[in-house]
Amino acid sequence: MNTAFSTFIVLFAISGVLSILLALYAGFQKTRFSGMRWFVLMSAATALYTFGSSFELASTSLREIKFWISIEYLGLPFISALNLIVVLHYIGREKMLASRKTVLLLILPAITTLLMLTNDRHGLVYQGIQLREGTPWPLADITMGLWYVVNGSYTLGCGLVGMWLLARHMRQTLNVYRKQTATMFVGLLLPIGASLVYVLNLTPFHIDPVPAVMSLTNILYCWAILSAGMLTSTSVIRENILDSMRDGVIVIDPAGRIADYNKAASQLFPFLNAELIGENAAASFPRERLHGRDADMSFLEDDDRQIEWMTDLGTHYYRIRSTPVYRRGGAFTGRTVVVLDVTENVLLHRKLERLATHDGLTQIYNRAYFVERSEDLVEETRRAGRPLCFALLDIDRFKSINDGFGHDVGDLVIRHVVHACKIYLGDRDVFGRYGGEEFALCLPDRTIEEAYGLLECVRRELASGPLMTESGPIGVTASFGLVEARPGEPLGALTKMADQAMYRAKRSGRNAVRIAGEDDGTRHATRISSPAAGFGEEPGGSGAGSAVGAAGA
Ligand code: GH3
Ligand code: MG
Ligand code: MG
Repeated sequence: MNTAFSTFIVLFAISGVLSILLALYAGFQKTRFSGMRWFVLMSAATALYTFGSSFELASTSLREIKFWISIEYLGLPFISALNLIVVLHYIGREKMLASRKTVLLLILPAITTLLMLTNDRHGLVYQGIQLREGTPWPLADITMGLWYVVNGSYTLGCGLVGMWLLARHMRQTLNVYRKQTATMFVGLLLPIGASLVYVLNLTPFHIDPVPAVMSLTNILYCWAILSAGMLTSTSVIRENILDSMRDGVIVIDPAGRIADYNKAASQLFPFLNAELIGENAAASFPRERLHGRDADMSFLEDDDRQIEWMTDLGTHYYRIRSTPVYRRGGAFTGRTVVVLDVTENVLLHRKLERLATHDGLTQIYNRAYFVERSEDLVEETRRAGRPLCFALLDIDRFKSINDGFGHDVGDLVIRHVVHACKIYLGDRDVFGRYGGEEFALCLPDRTIEEAYGLLECVRRELASGPLMTESGPIGVTASFGLVEARPGEPLGALTKMADQAMYRAKRSGRNAVRIAGEDDGTRHATRISSPAAGFGEEPGGSGAGSAVGAAGA
């Protein structure tokens, strides 16, 4: 027999034996790989095809050849479709394959097999088959039928779709799993390439080389199973876990490049796409979406950080935990960056914090928080040897406003007073609602003269004209008590002194600022010049200027 023939027969036979071994090996493997039974079937179909081819080539008559071609077609049409099913399982898309869809994929191959077995009646697969002349060994030539083309296209189609899926998967998968995916890709590419060689008539005696190549494909699969652990599907399981996680995960390699990310990460950071795999992680982030303090990207390497991520719809708050990953031997293999969307928590926390610290009607500090902040300021200014003043303010004859105009208007007046104070208060000043219509002011770094001036401004602002309401104009004034802290004086003492001064303001006719101790000279023997002296805007009280000017009166 011609050596080319013998070589092909041996190659085909080896291919067949390997396929059977592979089917047996895979069948007995304990694996969680969901596509294993399909892989066993694929190997079995390959074995039928390659053994059939081997015997076809070794046949001595046309009758024998036709018989072995029928045997080949028990397996051949199924190989490509089964391969596609294995690929879909491998890339974790087995959900796309409800059992009915799997059957659909196998319908066309089954028709091909049936048509082949009955070909003598219709000639749909091949129109004719005859022995070729001038070959050293009987070799058959086939005249293609209509179904031959259909089957060929389907086989090629399944192969190309499988390759496309694997290529896409390779781009999205972790580097460490790429070798397996690439092996499957080459396994699929080989028979397609061999078919091309056959179509281009590049083999001796125009023998179809695909069965021989199938053995190479099978060797690749064997190698992949044994070495890379392919079909044990840990990669798929891991990736499924990654993708089913609600937290975003970005895997960064030791060189700081993006190695992988899960679905949640791309939802949290929509700029993430497969093209960025292999790109520098820090450089891939759009800085304009980050808060200024996060723009140095150090959060990718910090254990635990909260960042602000600006989207067109608003700011999101992400908690970032970056963990270095080491191999067993201790070598650094990169980082996993876990991203949690904590926007809801942050906003809720802020809301609760605001509710706990602010007054609902006026949105200034409530009493408890005002006291907390003021105590800090008292201590801070005492240590620094800087001045601090404390004041209380009570709206004059507020009960009559309530009684005359109703509580709603009363509330409006309260807000009006707050607004007037805010006009003159600085950033460091602390302002709180102390009681119903009483307010407190803590004024750090202000001398008594400065604080007095500020309160006078507020007083005059209020007294300068009535508040226009739907119920008519309302004259609003307030009385103020002011005290300057002496080193070591606690807030409680300051409050008491400011309160006494305020009641003196009330007693002296309201709409006035009074300073603690000015009446008996215990604290402020020197008279504070009154910028408000001479103002005659008071609705019912005595002149504001005189209230202050009357130190010691
Ligand atoms: P004086 O000039 O002496 O301060 O007289 P006054 O009428 O203002 O007396 P007082 O300061 O005791 O009045 C407090 C009143 O404030 C009693 C209460 O009905 C009213 N009040 C307290 N909180 C609120 C509030 O949130 N809204 C309204 N509309 N009224 C309030
Ligand atoms: Mg009052
Ligand atoms: Mg009051």
